[in-house]
Amino acid sequence: MKDTIVLYTWVALGHLMPMVELAKLLSKQGMSVTVVIVDLVKDSSSFTSKTMSCLSAANPTISFHVIPPATVGEGVDHVFKIIHEANNPLSYILQSISETSSVCAVVLDFFCTYALDVARQLDIPAYLFYTSGAFDLAMDIYFPTLDKNLDNSIVEIGNRLLHVPGLPPIPGSHLPDHLHQRNRPVYKTLINIFQTFVQYDGMLVNTFESLEKKAVEALRAGLCFPGGYTPPVYCIGPLISVPEMKEEERHESLVWLDMQPKKSVVFLSFGSMGSFSEQQLREIATGLENSGQRFLWVVRSPTVTNPLKKLDPQATPDLQAILPKGFTDRTKDRGMVVKQWAPQVEVLNHESVGAFVTHCGWNSILEATMAGVPMICWPMYAEQKLNKIYLVEEMKVAVEMKGYDEDIVVAKEVEDKVKLIMESEEGKVIRERMENMREKAVEALREGGSSHTALEEFLKAVRNARVST
Ligand code: UDP
Repeated sequence: MKDTIVLYTWVALGHLMPMVELAKLLSKQGMSVTVVIVDLVKDSSSFTSKTMSCLSAANPTISFHVIPPATVGEGVDHVFKIIHEANNPLSYILQSISETSSVCAVVLDFFCTYALDVARQLDIPAYLFYTSGAFDLAMDIYFPTLDKNLDNSIVEIGNRLLHVPGLPPIPGSHLPDHLHQRNRPVYKTLINIFQTFVQYDGMLVNTFESLEKKAVEALRAGLCFPGGYTPPVYCIGPLISVPEMKEEERHESLVWLDMQPKKSVVFLSFGSMGSFSEQQLREIATGLENSGQRFLWVVRSPTVTNPLKKLDPQATPDLQAILPKGFTDRTKDRGMVVKQWAPQVEVLNHESVGAFVTHCGWNSILEATMAGVPMICWPMYAEQKLNKIYLVEEMKVAVEMKGYDEDIVVAKEVEDKVKLIMESEEGKVIRERMENMREKAVEALREGGSSHTALEEFLKAVRNARVST
């Protein structure tokens, strides 16, 4: 019977796409691979089914299954509920795969940790695939200990300085949003999930060793788990998803970049969900205009009440109404505004791009690293403020946009930071560090490089576990 690895994730792009990249790598290594995805919406004509048909067509060697949600609802608590409820269908899928092949391992996204129970019941080794970095993983793992050491009366963690062994100090305000308030149900859910990480047979991380040396060392030295034991850590990244595009489908932004001088353009893009108020969009526009630099800017419809509103593909922004009067005309020779979405990986790898204003999502960071583009950090949600600490303070490959955590980032700050990266001596040094990091990333992925070797070691562990059972 052939061996199959089952990868289990959910539909958020920042989680799904790296998992699909992992599936491709494993398939290239000769493994039979099935990807199981929990959907969050019931509509069969949804974004998920379209994404699935594209993924299946592009990856004929990989099987894809979608588990529809048992209930509907909104918010992160609901995401966890839906994923928990998917344990039964997952078990059914694993058992049906087992009829024709032997499932030698399941690899779970961190949100899908509930499935550890299913893996244990079916006696299948289980591995975590952590789609963010090792710094964030180390913080998650140590977090239950931090929580235990806090006085019971403390509800808000935001104003404390947190010390995770082996890592730089973390201001509580920089924790992921859901870990700020101890009395919220999601806080307890996350603590419970972090505590179960120790049960994994190993942890795959979408990073590479030289990018996060300190954090990887802290993890391996057992500094983060209470008992001192850490499952094996495999840094297998950067896994980056590069969509295949035909020449005639080339996005207009790439055609525009072709006409710009080398490393002259500042690219601004804020992940799959980031959007701003109208006032903030106008400040950015003014800052870009006053900087005198070339720019390529992805703009979404402004949010009024909920800055984390999911991207609505229908909501095309009305640029004339949003941006300052005359902005588009005045900047038409050196700026391009793209509505909603740009092919970020291709853009970052275009030789005309010289800087990246980013919300610090982990995939965006890896993509910028692989392209050697220096960053200006504007964290918005999830673990992005933590990522910012690492980029700015540890790696020194980025600068921070001041005011990102206040009401507004003013135009002058946008102008100053863009000029700093594009024109100053400090910017030049940061660019050189980033180029250096790019070379290390390429090195890590090469045969014999740290990430390549880590993937082989993971596969060896999976195969050895089969032999010993
Ligand atoms: N992305 C893109 N075009 C855009 C915005 C985002 O291609 O206009 C891609 C980006 O390349 C990255 C992903 O969407 O791969 C966003 O993932 P990340 O982890 O950076 O942020 P998240 O969306 O999860 O907050």
